[in-house]
Amino acid sequence: MQRAYNFNAGPSAMPLEVLQEAQAEFLNYAGTGMSVIEMSHRSAEYAALHAETKALLRELMQIPDDYEIMFIQGGGSTQFLMTAANFHTQKYAAYVNTGVWAKKAMAEGKFFGEVYEAASSADKNHSYIPDSFNIKDGTSYVHLTANNTIYGTEYKSFPKFDVPVICDMSSDILSRKVDVKNFDLIYAGAQKNLGPAGVVIVIAKKAFLATARQELPTMLKYATFAANDSLYNTPPVFAIYMVNKTLHWIKEQGGVDAIAQNNAAKAKLIYDVIDGSGGFYKGHAVKEARSLMNITFNLATPELEKDFVAQGKAAGFVGIGGHRLVGGCRASAYNAVPLEACAALADFMKKYQREHE
Ligand SMILES: *Cc1c(COP(=O)(O)O)cnc(C)c1O
Repeated sequence: MQRAYNFNAGPSAMPLEVLQEAQAEFLNYAGTGMSVIEMSHRSAEYAALHAETKALLRELMQIPDDYEIMFIQGGGSTQFLMTAANFHTQKYAAYVNTGVWAKKAMAEGKFFGEVYEAASSADKNHSYIPDSFNIKDGTSYVHLTANNTIYGTEYKSFPKFDVPVICDMSSDILSRKVDVKNFDLIYAGAQKNLGPAGVVIVIAKKAFLATARQELPTMLKYATFAANDSLYNTPPVFAIYMVNKTLHWIKEQGGVDAIAQNNAAKAKLIYDVIDGSGGFYKGHAVKEARSLMNITFNLATPELEKDFVAQGKAAGFVGIGGHRLVGGCRASAYNAVPLEACAALADFMKKYQREHE
C-alpha cells in the first residue's frame, strides 16, 4: 500500500499498525457485533477501554496517584479557556509568550482577570525559549507551552516556579519523558501525538483541582470531569479508543524512552541537512531550543520555498509548508512518523539543494 511521507502538523501521522487494527475491528469490536462507535459509553466493553486508557497513560507517563486523568472535548483551545476559568482566582495569571498558542491561551486568561507575560520570545520572532521569568505577587498560575508547534522551539528542561504551573503539551506529549510532579496541570489535544482530533488529555494534581473556582457552568468545571471519571456526559469514544491503541503502540515500541530516542534520531537527520547546507537551508530556532517535533526552516526566498514545497509534494512529502501565519517550511516529525520518512526527506532536501544552488 502506498502511504504518504506525512509531515502534517496536526492532525498528523498515526502509526500504521494502529490504523490497521482499528480497521480490522471497526465492524465488530471485541466480539460485540458492533462498532466501538455504536455502543453505549456505559457498556462493560467501553468501561474497560476507558479504564485501560487511563491506566496505560498513568504507566507510560508515570503519573502519580495524586493526579487525576480526564478526557475532555473542545481541543487545546478550550483548555485555554478552562484553565483560566477554573484557576485564574487571584489578581494575576502569568503566561510565557513563546508563540501563537501561548498568546491565544493568554487572550482567554483575560476574561477572568489580569494577565501578564512572565517572559516572552517575541523580540526574536519566537526563535528561542526564555530562561528568566518575572512572577508578580498575587499570581494564580504560570502557563507554559512545552513545544511551540508553529515556531519549532521546545523547552529542553522546564523552569521551576513558586506558583502553580499549567502546561500545554499538545504537540509533544509522550514524545519524551517529563516529570509530571513538576506540573499542577498538563493538557494535550490528541491530534498531534496521540490519536484523532476530538479528545484532550488533562492530567491534574488533585490538590490543585481543589483550589478551582466553584461558580462555573457544569461543563467548564474540571470537577465535573474528575468526579464522574470523564463520564458525566458522552465522552468522545472513538477518539479515546484510538488513543488507547496508540498508547499500546508506544508501549510496544519500548515506552517513552525508546520513543524519545527515535525522535532524536529522526530530527537529527533533518537538522544535520540544515546545518550542513552552508546556509541554503536556515533553521528558524536557535540550536538549544530546537523542537524534535516541528522542524522549521527557511530557504533564500518565499518563491524558492514555494517551489521546494511543491516539488516535495510531487515527490510524496505531505505537509512541509510552514504555518500560514509564519511561512517558510516545517516538517512535523511526531511519534508516529517513521525514521524512514525523515531519512527520505533528508535525502530529498540534499537533492533539492544540489539542483537549486
Ligand atoms: C494545535 C495546538 C493547540 C490547539 O489545538 P486545538 O485542538 O486545535 O484547539 C494548542 N496548543 C498547541 C501547542 C498546539 O500545537
